Amino acid sequence: MMDQVVQRKLIQAVAETMIAHAGELTSLDQAIGDGDHGLNMKRGFEGVLADIDSLASQSLPDALKAIGTQLVMKVGGASGPLYGTLLMTLGKGMPADPTLDDIGRCFGAAVDAVKARGKSDIGQKTMLDVLAPAHAELAKGGANLAARISTAAFCAAEATKPMKALRGRASFLGERSIGHMDPGAQSSALMITTVCRVLGG
Ligand code: ADP
Ligand code: MG
Repeated sequence: MMDQVVQRKLIQAVAETMIAHAGELTSLDQAIGDGDHGLNMKRGFEGVLADIDSLASQSLPDALKAIGTQLVMKVGGASGPLYGTLLMTLGKGMPADPTLDDIGRCFGAAVDAVKARGKSDIGQKTMLDVLAPAHAELAKGGANLAARISTAAFCAAEATKPMKALRGRASFLGERSIGHMDPGAQSSALMITTVCRVLGG
């Protein structure tokens, strides 16, 4: 089993990061969407925080599935079902005490599930443009992995700026979506770097 203290710290840190960055995510979504991404994520992760005692005491796979369910119910929008799919799929394949290989394999399956659910792929200016490169870095393994994944995630979010959106609300803007960072790419980067900070020491 993953240490319950670590699991609580991990869930709490991710939730607090998303809540603390709600304003930033909302302004990104104001530029190329409908300005609700920060509020959506805040609502979802406030639900997670309210459930923290139960989430910390469950096995890691059960906690991931429960968080995914919370996100589907509370976040709403396009991102709720997609983040829900990500977390639920992550939980589905995860052993209670996963190795790095287990985490890499399950994260890969979770990214594929988001692609299927969103009918989307990398290069379309979405959260996948951060999730996929973060997974690729994780799969490489080796030294300073947590720091490398964090860097890869933030660079990947930056790299959505020059992209033209082909999925989600931002795609309605066509060429006018160019020059702005994708809000879901930034929320994914924030989530991933928080996990890396807590688990990577
Ligand atoms: P909504 O677009 O319904 O207002 P949010 O603002 O909460 O939902 O989330 C928008 C984010 O969701 C986008 O920035 C993008 O990263 C992600 N997204 C939207 N549609 C898709 C899709 N089909 N595949 C992957 N990600 C998507
Ligand atoms: Mg929105």
